[in-house]
Amino acid sequence: MRGAVIHAPRDVRFETLADPKIVHPTDAIIRTAVTCVCGSDLWPYRGLEPIGDPHPMGHEYVGFVEEVGSEVTGLRPGQFVVGSFATSDNTCANCRNGFPSSCLHREFMSSCQAEYVRIPNAHGTLVATDEVPGEEFWPGLLAVSDVMGTGWWAADAAEVGPGSTALVVGDGAVGLCAVIAAKERGAERIIVMSRHASRQELAREFGATDVVTERGDQGVARIKDLTGGIGADSVLECVGTAEAMRQALHGARPGGSVGFVGVPHEVAVDGQELFFSHVGLRGGPAPVRRYLPDLIERVLAGRIDPGKVFDLTLPLDDVAEGYRAMDERRAIKTLLTP
Ligand SMILES: [Zn+2]
Repeated sequence: MRGAVIHAPRDVRFETLADPKIVHPTDAIIRTAVTCVCGSDLWPYRGLEPIGDPHPMGHEYVGFVEEVGSEVTGLRPGQFVVGSFATSDNTCANCRNGFPSSCLHREFMSSCQAEYVRIPNAHGTLVATDEVPGEEFWPGLLAVSDVMGTGWWAADAAEVGPGSTALVVGDGAVGLCAVIAAKERGAERIIVMSRHASRQELAREFGATDVVTERGDQGVARIKDLTGGIGADSVLECVGTAEAMRQALHGARPGGSVGFVGVPHEVAVDGQELFFSHVGLRGGPAPVRRYLPDLIERVLAGRIDPGKVFDLTLPLDDVAEGYRAMDERRAIKTLLTP
């Protein structure tokens, strides 16, 4: 089969790879329906994370079950499945506590920009739809496997509730999905920080009520203006830079909560400042598996359409161009079709 391999910064190639095989009896092999490039793939792509030896890329997927190991129950070849970037057995203490992305048997997916993928912990990780959904739903279900699940986690961690004011820091795919999540959870006011016209437009379509284009102290001042001088009830930090985290912490009202879901890069939190702010802080890799049944239902019912974050579709062979387009911010998120 063929798939994407990163060799060096800005050097992603589509290559012939060994066909994945069942390694453990709890594995499944899926044939990729659609996959994509993640904003977090850009960290190594831009040389901001070490790459080491050339290795396959990708952690988002929906597909068709091709083969299952001898201990996998409840899945059969031909089913359409949605998974998560973190695999989970769905039975250990951390899974039972609602944190499958901290599963004691977790493995992070990292070879999904390919024609076939091996899924460890298949029984606990994969959720099959009742029937094969129409292709028009595939992008939305693919978004659920990572960015929409992560946006939902941001809203959950930031305790977005009915009637609340939510502030979304970041207008990438996760930030835009966080707007959807805030809206679905009943936020009355959704402020998004964005400087890009096309992203602002999509954010408004997803339910954003206000857009803040300023950054830094000016951005904080603008947020205070919009929130009666105190800041937002819930802040959804969807970037992972020091500046974004500062913006998030300063944008929350005393007693408010920040959910941070952008993978932090050189983010440091000042303990004393946090102490005096009365702000609650929670983050981490999204427990996507916990949200899958609910989010799949919302997509298939046509209630949400997070697939709209894909604004570029390319054949999987053109994966390198998919990375380039996102790196150069010509695309929010690239959908890849095998
Ligand atoms: Zn577990």
